[in-house]
Amino acid sequence: MIFNRSSKKKVSFERFLTCEYARDYIDQNTPYTEQIEKAAQAIREADYVLLGAGAGMSAAAGAEYGGKYFEEHFAEFQKLYGKGPYMQDMYSAGFYPFPDEESRWGLWSHLALLAGADLDVTPLHKTLLDALEGKKLFLLSTNADHQFEKAGLPSVQVFATQGSYKRIQCARGCHSKTYDAVELFRQMERERVNGKIPGELVPKCPVCGGPMAMNLRVDDHFVQDEDWHAAEERFSRFLSECVDQKTVLLELGVGFNTPTIIRFPFEKLAREQENISLIRLSRSKAAVPASLGDRAIGINADMAQSITDLAHKLSESRKE
Ligand SMILES: [Zn+2]
Repeated sequence: MIFNRSSKKKVSFERFLTCEYARDYIDQNTPYTEQIEKAAQAIREADYVLLGAGAGMSAAAGAEYGGKYFEEHFAEFQKLYGKGPYMQDMYSAGFYPFPDEESRWGLWSHLALLAGADLDVTPLHKTLLDALEGKKLFLLSTNADHQFEKAGLPSVQVFATQGSYKRIQCARGCHSKTYDAVELFRQMERERVNGKIPGELVPKCPVCGGPMAMNLRVDDHFVQDEDWHAAEERFSRFLSECVDQKTVLLELGVGFNTPTIIRFPFEKLAREQENISLIRLSRSKAAVPASLGDRAIGINADMAQSITDLAHKLSESRKE
């Protein structure tokens, strides 16, 4: 039996693909305060903490992409293109079939600044980093918004696999370089009229002369540049070092959108190494493999709350 019948949920295609709520996957029913205490204990005992952060972390910290925030910041584009299926939130807006490059970069420069260089939801990130002081730390992240670095985590301790809201690349990925575009985005933002930037600001690939694109993993043209590979190498060194030490995998807001990058490998690592524990924080997707026993702690809760409570517990014990 693949799926847990007692969960009494329909096995949709999506749940089939992600194995969500397979028999071994359980929502723990331990009381919240006990779970926070257990998580704090696991971290106290660990020398190494590998953070794995997904979109839920930025959202819990206060990053907004839709609703009123979008209405306020993208009114100009909603007026131009209608609300339709695209002008609903920052994610969907990027997929609008723009009539030309001037319009495409008109929206994307605005979006990229809001979601990247100008985003600051660091207080929760700082709370967490402060609580982990003294641990050997590394961050594996699918977020392109640089919030942990902004909060003070050195970039040599970060591997952001899916790209950056600050960088652009050849749309066809014809060469393996990416380019810092923050200043260009600011200029586009200043000179945009009716959703369009001036033609001379449209970036062109310096190698093939073709269009440029955001350095975000949306298709197989995604460019993994020198820095990306250097980060991969540092991540792999950290893993080699911590794999047989007292290690906590602290997963933050990772759902089932791209579970193959953090979620599933974390489970596998914890399953294979008895010295490794998994702490999974998520608003609603904190189910953990029951077979990991005490080494898995899955806390379904508002993460701003659970991170704050966890940090509080850790600082309490440090004072003692
Ligand atoms: Zn090119």
